[in-house]
Amino acid sequence: QFISLEGGEGAGKSSAIQCIEAWLTEHEIPYILTREPGGTPMAEEIRELVLSARDEQVAPNTELLLVFASRVQHLNEKIQPALAQGKWVISDRFVDSSYVYQGVARGINESVIDNLVDTFLKNQLPNKTLLLDVPVELGLQRVQSRGESNRLDGESLAFHQKVRDGFLHRASQDPERFVVVDASQAIASVEAQIVAQLNALLAG
Ligand code: C5P
Repeated sequence: QFISLEGGEGAGKSSAIQCIEAWLTEHEIPYILTREPGGTPMAEEIRELVLSARDEQVAPNTELLLVFASRVQHLNEKIQPALAQGKWVISDRFVDSSYVYQGVARGINESVIDNLVDTFLKNQLPNKTLLLDVPVELGLQRVQSRGESNRLDGESLAFHQKVRDGFLHRASQDPERFVVVDASQAIASVEAQIVAQLNALLAG
């Protein structure tokens, strides 16, 4: 199984991943945990380039191509080999983040991203995508209360709202693949929603 996790700031991806790892270990399922942008040494270097503070305006198309370059490397070098060995692959973000961050939020046309997906990913999409959905104000509050406001990179409320709406829109377009997890709930409830999905996947 190839599972991706998506969500905006403060949605709780890190806690969700801990819960998924505990479940996989409990079920003795071989897996790898990886992330985007990144996942291989070169792709992690590209992540640094994309996310590090810079004194240069980065064009949305530049960002898109960098993120895709890292994704192609990640898919070829890490994800596909693991899947071929029968491992489950858990990826902290995948292509939906491009549709949302580079697409909806940075304004790149969806068809441009579709073309990159068709050409370079051969439509290798996750089997399941868990979207951790949280109202923007609550997500931002969580980040601030952890003392991590520097993560927010000065993006506006409107930007974060676009990200949330963008993910929900993608989920509504592909309800077979997406599961929307209500991440505004307490951790125990979020974990219960995730475990129910994993059990369903395992049951096939
Ligand atoms: O997963 P995490 O929240 O740590 O991601 C770091 C940041 O990378 C996100 O907040 C987002 O701003 C950015 N990102 C992006 N485009 C992607 C993936 C992530 O701009 N395709």
